[in-house]
Amino acid sequence: MEFRDLTAQYQKYKSEINTAIQEVISTAQFIGGKPVIELEEQLAKYVGVKHCITCANGTEALSLVLMAWGIGAGDAVFVPDFTFFASGEVVSFRGATPVFVDVDRDTFNIDVKKLEKAIVQTLEEGKLTPKVIIPVDLFGLPANHIEIEKIAKKYNLLILEDGAQGFGGSINGKRACSFGNAATTSFFPAKPLGCYGDGGAIFTNDDELAELLNSLKIHGKGQDKYDNVRIGVNSRLDTIQAAVLQVKLKAFIEHELEDVNRVYRLYNERLSGIVEIPVIPEGYYSSFAQYTIKLKNKEQRDGLQVYLKEKGIPSMVYYIKPMHKQEAFSNLQFNESDFEVTNELCDIVLSLPMHPYLSEDEINQVCKAVKAYLQRS
Ligand SMILES: *Cc1c(COP(=O)(O)O)cnc(C)c1O
Repeated sequence: MEFRDLTAQYQKYKSEINTAIQEVISTAQFIGGKPVIELEEQLAKYVGVKHCITCANGTEALSLVLMAWGIGAGDAVFVPDFTFFASGEVVSFRGATPVFVDVDRDTFNIDVKKLEKAIVQTLEEGKLTPKVIIPVDLFGLPANHIEIEKIAKKYNLLILEDGAQGFGGSINGKRACSFGNAATTSFFPAKPLGCYGDGGAIFTNDDELAELLNSLKIHGKGQDKYDNVRIGVNSRLDTIQAAVLQVKLKAFIEHELEDVNRVYRLYNERLSGIVEIPVIPEGYYSSFAQYTIKLKNKEQRDGLQVYLKEKGIPSMVYYIKPMHKQEAFSNLQFNESDFEVTNELCDIVLSLPMHPYLSEDEINQVCKAVKAYLQRS
């Protein structure tokens, strides 16, 4: 059994994917060109925003937006404590200071009450200037963007939605990567929409920001790439990756997003009352980058993971360590009592195999093993 089966997907779309790659090779245009332009149009249309700017990966996508906004030394950027390292890394990379905020125990996403508290506290301390909120759509579930937008407005902050895991999710029909002033996603192979290497994209309705990003990602280009009007970076999505993504986006829209939600329902039916199952609030739709359960304590979680492994069932702990405990941020001061929920989650979460091609037999096998272990222990 695979944790995320990319081979099954390839087998189903083999001829289309091979043709798409072959076409790029035969035209010998490996950077830019039709597949990239078309993909950006298709992604913007799907998400429901004016501009999509593809780039090298999801981390660069975040960095580019912070760069475009001129975020740097002395600025505070609010980031959930429970997320992949990159969400906070980009803040420090730009010279700004990440302020980590605890998350909601049910949704795994940034706790909006604690977010406001952290903003007020930062203002009171007066050392840093609050500038940006980076809400993360963790495990495929959009963050509470409705409340976050209100808070951003109240304190005059920008919102950068980290939709690296959230592509395909929605709140009352409004799609992930359309919230805030700008949003980003990642096409890392294991993400909801993945390519065959690294890739990323930025989404925005802001015309000026889009123009600036298109310059920054190609060495600060002006009229063309040999006219350089600012310092930028080299951050492009390869043409081959764009061609692969065009095929995969079609599959994602046609059935894969519904299929992961089918897997979610089947898991829930079997595991409800046995372990804590994922909570999807009313009006929210998840793209299920992960199906994450909660166990009683660390001992039970670790024991279950070992037991599943013995049965040939892969599982993952996302995340084993909160952001504020990462050595890379050890120069910052934290108060452990601010991160009660994240500290607990890191001990009790376990992500089970999740992908659109998971069969009912496999789901039964996983759930049977989970039940057998919990009855035993
Ligand atoms: C994967 C991920 C990123 C980074 O994306 P890459 O394409 O791997 O650079 C950023 N934020 C979150 C929440 C992620 O899961």
